[in-house]
Formats: sequence, C-alpha cells, structure tokens
Amino acid sequence: MTTQTCKYDGCNENIWNKSNNDFCLFHDPQIGKKNPSKIKKHIIRNNIYDFTGFKLPGNIIFKDGNFNDELNFEETLIEGVLIFKNCEFVKLKI
Ligand SMILES: [Zn+2]
Repeated sequence: MTTQTCKYDGCNENIWNKSNNDFCLFHDPQIGKKNPSKIKKHIIRNNIYDFTGFKLPGNIIFKDGNFNDELNFEETLIEGVLIFKNCEFVKLKI
C-alpha cells in the first residue's frame, strides 16, 4: 500500500482521513471538522513553519514559542482567533 500525499501544490503531508478530496489536515477546506488542539499538536510536533494555503480553525494558542525559521502565512485562512503569546519570531511572511 502506498501512502498518498496531499494534493495541495508542494505539500507532502499525508491525506487526512476525514478529507473527501485528497487534502491533508491543514489544506482541507472542511474547517468545521477540524480539532484545534490536534492541529496545534501536529504543528508543534512536526516543527511546521510554512502555513501557506492552510485552512485553520480558530482557538489555537501558541505559548512561549521560539520560531527560529520564517513563518509563512501566505494564502492562509484562519476561521477565528490564532494567538501567539510570548513568542519570538525571526521572520514573518504574511
Ligand atoms: Zn496539504
């Protein structure tokens, strides 16, 4: 069995098991089905800095983070509030 990856251009994430259209957890447009704490864990665990094209639910809080690479929010959709509390950034691309 081969593992398929997200169809978003340049994304190498695995396809989300709730996706109807071959997107990963981040790029799938069904924001209402996403669990903010699960997304946050996945972002931290995998050191994700490139949020290009992500469709994120609100209520994600990053605390005391040190983002030592460029954070990229190009074409990112956030449905709600995304909070960075006491975080340091090297570079932000919005
Ligand atoms: Zn993706």
